[in-house]
Amino acid sequence: MLRMSSAGLLAVLSLFALTTVAQADGFDAYVAGLKPEATARGISDATFQSAIRGLTADPSMERLTRRQPELVKPIGGYIERRTSGALLSSGRVKAKANARLLRDLGRRTGVDPYVVAAIWGMETGYGGNIGNSDVFRSLATLGWMQYRGDFFRKEFLHALTILQNENISRARMIGSWAGAMGQTQFIPSSFLQYAVDFDGDGTRDLWRSIGDALASTANYLKSKGWVAGQPWGVPVVLPESVVRSAATQGWSAWARLGVKAHDGIDFPTTGEATLFFPAGHEGPAFLITDNYDVIRDYNSSDAYSLSAALLADRLRGGAALNAAWPTGDTLNKTQRLAVQAALRKRGHVLSNDTGRITKDVRLAVAVEQRRLGVTPDGYPDQQFLARISR
Ligand code: CA
Repeated sequence: MLRMSSAGLLAVLSLFALTTVAQADGFDAYVAGLKPEATARGISDATFQSAIRGLTADPSMERLTRRQPELVKPIGGYIERRTSGALLSSGRVKAKANARLLRDLGRRTGVDPYVVAAIWGMETGYGGNIGNSDVFRSLATLGWMQYRGDFFRKEFLHALTILQNENISRARMIGSWAGAMGQTQFIPSSFLQYAVDFDGDGTRDLWRSIGDALASTANYLKSKGWVAGQPWGVPVVLPESVVRSAATQGWSAWARLGVKAHDGIDFPTTGEATLFFPAGHEGPAFLITDNYDVIRDYNSSDAYSLSAALLADRLRGGAALNAAWPTGDTLNKTQRLAVQAALRKRGHVLSNDTGRITKDVRLAVAVEQRRLGVTPDGYPDQQFLARISR
């Protein structure tokens, strides 16, 4: 998680495996070669030796880094699996058991604590599956493979800082295969920047302290711009008269057009929202706020972000969405990059060039859809890509 939020990170698969793990010859030299940079960051010899003692390259990384992201599948099934079943039932138990903690977090940070709880569920099944990979081994192997360039080499160095400064034992430094740690899966750089010692025992312990883990996630979301008092968004029912367009206006203006929440609750009285069709205008419609984009900062996929958002609503006691999701394939990363390239060619300035379909990209898509004479829902599908690539 975490801007390299575990999954976000992985969603952005780029295969930089210049060296194969099978040819593990250079691994020891690579690890030893990290020493000067570690020393320059104030890492002691004792810490460094403790981290690398007996370290070997993890041969499973070749397979894991080739794993395809699941984002090309239709998102409806993904969302339904994560907002029902065990994640919902155990989430309700966990939310109840931690009701006071969630209330405190909401009050102190202004962040929706149920979104925090939902992320906890999505990342590790509410702490049940925090991974069992040695963080130093994972990060050193990925760094040595130059998977995602030098990203993991830097994360290895950040992990050394944690080991030296945080009163976390060497044995405790376990995580996902990609080095995401604790109950809400922080990579080391996010840990250093956003982790919080909520229970006040002097240690930012994201592995064993639910309070520390959830407060750290709330702190992350707050730091990324969560606006207190605004929801992430609302699933809506649209009257026929409303244009299926990726437009932004005040909540009250949407209400005046006859747009209603799917469960009939009132919209917020302040703030604005953007009409959003995560699977195109033939699928479910949502009004989302900038808080939705904050969740996307945790993990850049709409499948993940919308699942976390809708799971949060269910944990809060909200009604099930029961939406009919289109079943067509979504664009894979190569295709999303092609959409971005085509938009740039037409003069659109986009906030990212990594294939993420962020709000500004959706708005640019809608502009081009209008030019093409199709519904400007801001959702780039195969047909849109084919037409805009001509
Ligand atoms: Ca603590």
